[in-house]
Amino acid sequence: MTMLIYRYREFQSKVINVNISQWGEKKLIREIAALVDSELCEEGLVGIGDDAAVTVLTPGKRLVTTTDMLVEGIHFLRGSIPPFDLGYKALAVNLSDLAAMGARARYIYVSLALNKETEVGFVLDFYRGLKSLADRFEVQVVGGDTVGSPGPLVISITAQGEADKVLLRSGANPGDVLCVTGTLGASAAGLQLLLDPLTDCPAAIRQEALQGHYRPVPRLPEGHFLASTGAVTAAIDLSDGILKDLGEICERSGCGAALREKLLPLSFAAQTVAALTGKDPLDLALSGGEDYELLLAVKRECFPWLAGEFAARFGTPLYEIGEICDGKEIIMIKADGEREKLAYGGFTHF
Ligand SMILES: [Mg+2]
Repeated sequence: MTMLIYRYREFQSKVINVNISQWGEKKLIREIAALVDSELCEEGLVGIGDDAAVTVLTPGKRLVTTTDMLVEGIHFLRGSIPPFDLGYKALAVNLSDLAAMGARARYIYVSLALNKETEVGFVLDFYRGLKSLADRFEVQVVGGDTVGSPGPLVISITAQGEADKVLLRSGANPGDVLCVTGTLGASAAGLQLLLDPLTDCPAAIRQEALQGHYRPVPRLPEGHFLASTGAVTAAIDLSDGILKDLGEICERSGCGAALREKLLPLSFAAQTVAALTGKDPLDLALSGGEDYELLLAVKRECFPWLAGEFAARFGTPLYEIGEICDGKEIIMIKADGEREKLAYGGFTHF
């Protein structure tokens, strides 16, 4: 064991301050392949190293594929997220899309556009973070591409999963219960703390907020279970803020929705950071985005059973937050009963 640690440290010290141009593409890919352990044991299957990966998904299952791109300066600032967390999060956002479809994640492809001066240590730490999450959900890295970039770092990840039944955005009906799989606003609170350190913020709150921002946990087993029940009529993961994501369900399903202010499960971090900055915690929860919980429409008659079963299996409640309605509008029923029409908010790219 001591020898292994020694060799690891020796390797680490060699890669510090080495640029990717000094290694070259082949060596970088070889090291990445070794790091993510892409060799597939089954006969006839191929991982990193050929023109394409060869994988088999179980016969009769549906193949679910998603791809997501992260651009430095838009989705992240290189100095404000450690490369380990960047790798973790880049994969988490893809796996969250598979969770929203009710799929079991299987294989991933990782492409990077890298500036020549990028340190090798940065790239390898990125992959270590990514691998830590891949291992947790038994997902395998089997391919990708690395290219030069004259400017920002660009990360593109494609994830494949399989499902017996899929969850879509399009099946919600008036009367369905709207619910979420966890509390809201911690990630937005974490982003606030990165923009303004707020020295009077308690350490435990800071940790909860940054954890929410850097290390969201994709709801993969939960999504797979929810799809199997037949009780969920529509689903989406909360990436862009609940208003925008709920807007997607409403648009695809041809319906409106009513949110109940007093039912919204605001995270403790969102409440504390909002109080310290004079912001409305509801804004962090509704428009902040990146919570990566699942937002679901559930047949009303199934909801009590589903909520009980969900809590028993996953140790966390399904939070009812409102209902699907006729029409096209999203309204908020305030704590005092007043009804307020909401504009679809959240992050837009263009
Ligand atoms: Mg999504």
